[in-house]
Amino acid sequence: MKTEAAAVAEARAGESPRRPERHFTGLGVSAGIAVGPAHVVERGLIDVPEYRIEADAVDAEIARFREAVTLSVSQIHGLQAKAEALPEEVAGQLRYLLDAHLLMLSGSRLVRGVEARIRDARINAEAAVQVQLSEIAQAFAGMEDAYLAGKIDDVREASGRLVRNLTRAGYQAFSGVPPGTIVIAEEITPADTALMDPARVGGFAAALGGAEGHTAIMARSLGLPAVLGVAGLKGAVRSGDIVAVDGVRGGLVVNPEEATIARLERRRRALERRERQLARLRQVAAVSQDGARVTLQCNIELPNELALAQEAGAEGIGLLRSEFLYMNRDEPPSEDEQYVALKDIVDGMAGAPVTVRTLDVGSDKLAYSLGEHITPSVNPALGLRAVRLSLKTPALLEAQIAAILRAGAHGPVRILVPMITSVDEIRHVRKAVDKTIRRLTRARVPIEPEPPLGIMIETPGAALAADALAGACDYFSLGTNDLTMYTLAIDRGDEQVAHLYDPLHPAVLRLIRFATDAARRARLPVNLCGELAGNPRFTAMLLGFGLRDLSMAPPHLPRVKQRILALDAEAAARHADELLDQSEAGRIAKLVDGFAKGS
Ligand code: PEP
Ligand code: MG
Repeated sequence: MKTEAAAVAEARAGESPRRPERHFTGLGVSAGIAVGPAHVVERGLIDVPEYRIEADAVDAEIARFREAVTLSVSQIHGLQAKAEALPEEVAGQLRYLLDAHLLMLSGSRLVRGVEARIRDARINAEAAVQVQLSEIAQAFAGMEDAYLAGKIDDVREASGRLVRNLTRAGYQAFSGVPPGTIVIAEEITPADTALMDPARVGGFAAALGGAEGHTAIMARSLGLPAVLGVAGLKGAVRSGDIVAVDGVRGGLVVNPEEATIARLERRRRALERRERQLARLRQVAAVSQDGARVTLQCNIELPNELALAQEAGAEGIGLLRSEFLYMNRDEPPSEDEQYVALKDIVDGMAGAPVTVRTLDVGSDKLAYSLGEHITPSVNPALGLRAVRLSLKTPALLEAQIAAILRAGAHGPVRILVPMITSVDEIRHVRKAVDKTIRRLTRARVPIEPEPPLGIMIETPGAALAADALAGACDYFSLGTNDLTMYTLAIDRGDEQVAHLYDPLHPAVLRLIRFATDAARRARLPVNLCGELAGNPRFTAMLLGFGLRDLSMAPPHLPRVKQRILALDAEAAARHADELLDQSEAGRIAKLVDGFAKGS
């Protein structure tokens, strides 16, 4: 919490009649408390700079806008050319989509409206695009015809491209907000979260989103207090209002009274004290009371999280979610660019292993740099996600593998493949690895010639076939986030069913146990990198299943270590057996919490 927040609150109090304090509840997805001025982002609108322009600058601003239109049109022509190389059924859909986007850019209501707004309202082109899009969206929302109402997505797409082209001069979303700002939106995507600099953004809250979606995971990794699935949020906050986000209890307070701010401040200080105490464990090895040594690694998404992993005392990067390198940009990163990013992380880990997962876009993680490869899907979580996309786009996969192999010349790396469900998929990825090794060796590029090739076990199919998959790969990484989602058929990012998402369901626990046992029988290393790993509530259970390698968001590592230091691994094993005998998740939860109290 920023003390300046209180000052802002005071200043505002003198301005206008004070608006009453209001409380909202949601899912506290990332612990911590933050108070600051709200920055409200409208749904479907990218965060853009807004400013007024002088009368004599109008023509230049319109010319700048037209340049962005021309650039957008030529980008779409480029995408159309690329689409022709795709299989006909995909190319057909894409052609249709891109034609619609072209229409939006030629003399349309969007383009005409933006020019009129620059001229009449004298606002900058980016802001004019946003305002015009809002107006069109409102008009569409009132339409009875579902087909026409659905066309708003095309307008949004075209507007997004225009804004990106207008702001391509290095504009960083949220960069203009005052430090400690709380971002408020209907929806915050993982790609939006990747743009949040914790030096500026103090926390966020959104109406949509579940605790296990990637937006929540990013918030935890960045240590940003966050509340998602906030009911009644729409229209309740104005930019500049003071808001308090309580990521521990899942609360949002709008226009908090001084007494409320003081109460939250006390709780925030207590949390900080606890963090400082835990930081003392940094150099201590994670060994249970009876001598079981556990390796604790970190999950990171963005290169700038490396410092957090180092501070937490990570023994390696157990999961690098490489998809974030592909987000918020027009073209996917080149092999060289990926190499440089990975090399920095490998160098930073100074000899500790770095596990780089190949691209896992699809489902809730979308990257418009890959737009031409991904067509909208009715069931994106069951669609062209992760390894399925990689195998369909060999050039992307091979560039990524090459970057990992090259980074491997600087320190130990491992390749990890997401969403594997069959031995065949592993064989195809291995072929791509072998081919890339041959290419780089011929070119005398220094590489790691034998990186371990592991797979995520994150679908029920993979868990149940773990013994078969074990024969084809070098290690397993248990992805309990997706494993829970696919086993229970619960969307991990949907606040409406968030209460049903339960990794303690007997089916999920049996699958974890089954896959762990299969790895042990095959003498295959196995780790767990789902969110279960970072919650000390589950540490005894996981040790009890025989797991000795856990990877988690950096802020969670010290708490999990503290828990391990207090545990007895043999007692944990008996506890895990007892859990597996149960038939109800509620009973399992009681036993889990009871064991925690008693040890
Ligand atoms: C998982 O599914 O548990 C996992 C670690 O991968 P992600 O959260 O990136 O899907
Ligand atoms: Mg996953």
